[in-house]
Amino acid sequence: MNIHEYQAKAVLKSFGAPVAEGVPVLSLDDVQKAVDTLPGPLWVVKSQIHAGGRGKGKFVEAEAGEKGGVRLAFTKEDVLANAKQMLGHHLVTAQTGPAGKQVNRLYIEDGADIDRELYLSILVDRESGKVAFVVSTEGGMDIEAVAHDTPEKIMTLPVDGGVTEDDASKLCDALKLEGTARTDGMKLFPILYKAFTEKDMAMLEVNPLIVMENGHLRVLDAKVSFDGNALFRHPDIVELRDKTEEDEKEIEASEWDLAYIALDGTIGCMVNGAGLAMATMDIIKLYGEEPANFCDVGGGAGKEKVAAAFKIIMKDPNVKGILVNIFGGIMKCDVIAEGVIAAVKETNLAVPLVVRLEGTNVELGKKIIADSGLNVISADDLDDAAQKIVNAVRG
Ligand code: ADP
Ligand code: MG
Repeated sequence: MNIHEYQAKAVLKSFGAPVAEGVPVLSLDDVQKAVDTLPGPLWVVKSQIHAGGRGKGKFVEAEAGEKGGVRLAFTKEDVLANAKQMLGHHLVTAQTGPAGKQVNRLYIEDGADIDRELYLSILVDRESGKVAFVVSTEGGMDIEAVAHDTPEKIMTLPVDGGVTEDDASKLCDALKLEGTARTDGMKLFPILYKAFTEKDMAMLEVNPLIVMENGHLRVLDAKVSFDGNALFRHPDIVELRDKTEEDEKEIEASEWDLAYIALDGTIGCMVNGAGLAMATMDIIKLYGEEPANFCDVGGGAGKEKVAAAFKIIMKDPNVKGILVNIFGGIMKCDVIAEGVIAAVKETNLAVPLVVRLEGTNVELGKKIIADSGLNVISADDLDDAAQKIVNAVRG
């Protein structure tokens, strides 16, 4: 689960991390009050969307102006003018896709005098099997380019159950922190680690972490995602969920405990097992079409869950055909077949459907489909299934 920058900063602040004063606003009426609580003389108006790259983003609407999604303002009037331009408009960044994301919230923040912009993130490092810090002196808006062109400027430091003095010291060295900044760093790294582990974060990214002109460190941007499997332990974090940032189909899928990710192709997929789902998507691409979604119904799905998955897939207006690819292990092919048929009848399915079943009770499953009288194309293996659905959508 992702949260907004201002929420992430509030979480980090509760652990003692240095962040700027700021006020989130949801409507233009609240901007004046927000700006009056901050000292100036520099304010920053920041679009709150669940995507990075806002500073270099572009708004779709002309009335939003030429500037990006993070704007500096030197007068209160300027704050208001920028807020007016940004709220309600669609911001396109390298992470949003071409349609962009509507900006429904702004964060008005105290401006900082920046000396240096650094990069810091914490994640679970699969290679070492540990929590690792990733840091670079080259922080700010071009970290992707740094990772691509000069990867030697990025250091990864796995830590073992906590940040030791020695770890903190290594991080300070890598970030070239001295004096006040070094003292701040020695305190900050253990704080960030504590926030990461206690709140079961999957990723914490501070880009940039800044050294200010007065020598102190400050968390200037914060992007946090939480491990969905641990959310039950954190009702306070669940409260922060902003469903307007999520795909409606993905929310419904999560209520059915389905692993569903919306994509932009035309072939809907319903598969059990993430590996088989990936293979199914690959083979659709191999035959020249694109998957409309990733969907893993899991190993133990019953008739109702299969029907629910079907309906969610059909809600996507781009879907021109559906490929069901199920390996019946714990799940039985006859149960799948019944679920598929129930869903086809209920949704008045108007697009071609190819079903490939394999495993337990496969003959019975195929018979149920054949006897249903519905227009379902049966396939024998993955190759056959992919070709059949691609041919069917191409007419
Ligand atoms: P994004 O990563 O989505 O582009 P950031 O929050 O990192 O958004 O902001 C982009 C840039 O804007 C930062 O790298 C920094 O240079 C500047 N910036 C952001 N917040 C402030 C602030 N409070 N004071 C001064 N400059 C800021
Ligand atoms: Mg940033």
